[in-house]
Amino acid sequence: MTTRTESSSDTAALLGPLTPELYRIVGRRVETGDVVTLSLEPPGGRTSSAFSHGQFNMITAFGVGEVAISISSAPGAPGPIEHSVRDVGAVTHALCVAPIGATVGVRGPFGTNWGIDDLEDGADVVVVAGGIGLAPLRGAVRDLIDRMRAGRGEVFVVVGARSPEQILFAEDIEEWRRSGAHVIVTVDVGAPGWEGPVGVVTSLLAGAPFDPVRSVALTCGPEIMMRFAARALADRGVDPLRIRVSLERNMQCAIGLCGHCQLGPLLVCRDGPIVPFGGMADRLFMERQR
Ligand SMILES: Cc1cc2nc3c(=O)[nH]c(=O)nc-3n(C[C@H](O)[C@H](O)[C@H](O)COP(=O)(O)OP(=O)(O)OC[C@H]3O[C@@H](n4cnc5c(N)ncnc54)[C@H](O)[C@@H]3O)c2cc1C
Repeated sequence: MTTRTESSSDTAALLGPLTPELYRIVGRRVETGDVVTLSLEPPGGRTSSAFSHGQFNMITAFGVGEVAISISSAPGAPGPIEHSVRDVGAVTHALCVAPIGATVGVRGPFGTNWGIDDLEDGADVVVVAGGIGLAPLRGAVRDLIDRMRAGRGEVFVVVGARSPEQILFAEDIEEWRRSGAHVIVTVDVGAPGWEGPVGVVTSLLAGAPFDPVRSVALTCGPEIMMRFAARALADRGVDPLRIRVSLERNMQCAIGLCGHCQLGPLLVCRDGPIVPFGGMADRLFMERQR
């Protein structure tokens, strides 16, 4: 007799996109003073829903509320899916202090992705991340390194953090370096023992050894950082249409119905969060500056 393991996608389809599925916290790793990575598993032997690099889920802390959180693991990676949460308010705090064994709600995955599965062979990829903005890029860097090992394009990673103790995913960053990716980490404010660069990520883009003509850039972080990083990349000669940024807005329904995340012509939950800088985010950034 053949038995069929129910996948989480089956359950999600049954419940509809507005009803969270119950997931259990099966792992909890403190990354920095205010960021915790939660490993989540659907109960009952179901497999997690398929997702793409850069997509997000809506996570419910029951009794407190629901927030958008990017998936920080890679699609197809073995084990539970991971979300890295920065404690900034009521819901993210409840998630950051939730113990192993607790149940959270998960809806998703939602939104556009980084598009790394469609990269042409030979394209180098420049990843620029600030703070928690490294979370939706972490899984992508892992798979870009596999692509690099297959001879399909180099990987350059430029990471910014407020201080050395705020650097996220330090172990992954070391692993990326060992694997041959070009990695630069900079901090806004140094500390005793810090020997790396001090300054904003944009200052490092001018000298980073990538070939702009054949590069694609992926950037996520505070909006002001993305704006300056995208302009610095375009000034180096990267085609603005090949620079992708991840927009962050107040998400409620996450399926393009409620309008809370509207930005100009976009509903960011549906048309984003990842959009091209050229012809899209550049105009929206300008609009917000007025
Ligand atoms: C597509 C997407 C992906 C995200 N991925 C992650 C992630 O991987 N990890 C993570 O920690 N956070 C992520 N966020 C941000 C996260 O959703 C917010 O931090 C969260 O909604 C805050 O809710 P809260 O109840 O804890 O705090 P609140 O009390 O709602 O807010 C606390 C403070 O944060 C500000 N804030 C709240 N929401 C946002 C927002 N969306 N953008 C900017 N400022 C905000 C508020 O103005 C306030 O100052 C993501 C947001 C989006 C839209």
